Amino acid sequence: MHCPFCRHADSRVVDSRTSDDGSSIRRRRQCPQCSRRFTTVETASLSVVKRSGATEPFSREKIVNGVRKACQGRPVSEDDLALLAQRVEELIRSTGSAELDAYEIGLTILGPLRDLDEVAYLRFASVYQAFDSLDDFEAAITVLRAEHEGSAAPEAAAPPTAAAGDVGPGEPSEPSPAR
Ligand SMILES: [Zn+2]
Repeated sequence: MHCPFCRHADSRVVDSRTSDDGSSIRRRRQCPQCSRRFTTVETASLSVVKRSGATEPFSREKIVNGVRKACQGRPVSEDDLALLAQRVEELIRSTGSAELDAYEIGLTILGPLRDLDEVAYLRFASVYQAFDSLDDFEAAITVLRAEHEGSAAPEAAAPPTAAAGDVGPGEPSEPSPAR
């Protein structure tokens, strides 16, 4: 790996440390030319399988772009969106999967988005889960209300099964069977 300071073509590892949860390794490196030190982080690559069958690397930017529209006009900052994407990545990595389909990523977005902004969540869920009637909205709102009342509602506001789809609004999938 080349030096980020002087671009020297090589560097040597002076220390390696595994993160507490074992999901990454940090390496402290030193450049033999300018002697400056820098850190690299090594994690398993995460792949997303698209509906077409093609795979692409997981991207936080795509998560942000996928929810940005749902957050329009809401008190949600770019920092909030970046944090949301980080949480989604952490949730996905915590499952231990190295590869998952875009639909699963959409489901993973729902929880953190609900915590961030409920209106944005309803917008995203309505497109993502293809709400097609007032009943669907009512059911989703009922779940939110139940949580407000403190009754530990199950995490399963999301439909148990559905066809794989691409992340984000604009690519609706099967109507939610969770009525
Ligand atoms: Zn250097």
